[in-house]
Amino acid sequence: RKQKQKRQFAVIGLGRFGGSVCRELHSMGHEVMAIDMNREKVEEYRPFSTHAMQADSTDERSLHSIGIRNFEHVVVAIGDNIQASILTTLVLKDEGVPHVWAKAQNHYHQKVLDKIGADVVVHPEFDMGKRIAHNIVSDKVIDFIDLSDDYSMIELRATSAVDGETLNTLHLRADYGITLIAIKDGQHMNVSPGPDEPIREGNILLVIGHNNDLERFEEKVL
Ligand code: ADP
Repeated sequence: RKQKQKRQFAVIGLGRFGGSVCRELHSMGHEVMAIDMNREKVEEYRPFSTHAMQADSTDERSLHSIGIRNFEHVVVAIGDNIQASILTTLVLKDEGVPHVWAKAQNHYHQKVLDKIGADVVVHPEFDMGKRIAHNIVSDKVIDFIDLSDDYSMIELRATSAVDGETLNTLHLRADYGITLIAIKDGQHMNVSPGPDEPIREGNILLVIGHNNDLERFEEKVL
């Protein structure tokens, strides 16, 4: 089996969000450089990182001198100072960092980060709020991922209404235009289930499709 290549990560801004990304990467055994302009934060994260460094990330020279371009993934987790977050993202893309992940504070910040070339923009409060709204509205929806404005992948809990049904009997493609990609039964994951494999109540269905069609399926069938 091919040995997994050691990848280098850096997290800039060690607030609640960046701090949690840093700790998690470190606990997974990855090399992670922790950067913050605040000395106390740097000390706090020394035990939870490979290197911890005090630096102002809006200063191109200091990012350049630590060789930031050698990091494959850099997370910009600067919270309130939107200007600093934007400048930092620009510097990182300028330096040639391949994957810049940036945390957005609001919708406008998100738009700007997208425009200036951030590779992934996350908006944790917004994303989590959406997720929770879906969970509140329907207890059948366990999780969902936006694929675009109109399409999603969702996890649905199979109710007694579909117990014993199969892909053949449900006509998901023909009647709903949606695709069942996997059935989870506890820890067991059945990817691309066959046409006659029965669904059981309590199984988790992983389904992909247009939001309207998914909603229709959820309301009419489940
Ligand atoms: P959260 O909402 O995730 O808790 P915060 O705004 O509290 O985020 O934390 C952001 C962190 O980013 C702080 O620790 C702050 O010192 C750091 N920070 C802000 N600006 C810079 C900068 N220019 N360079 C490095 N670190 C910065």
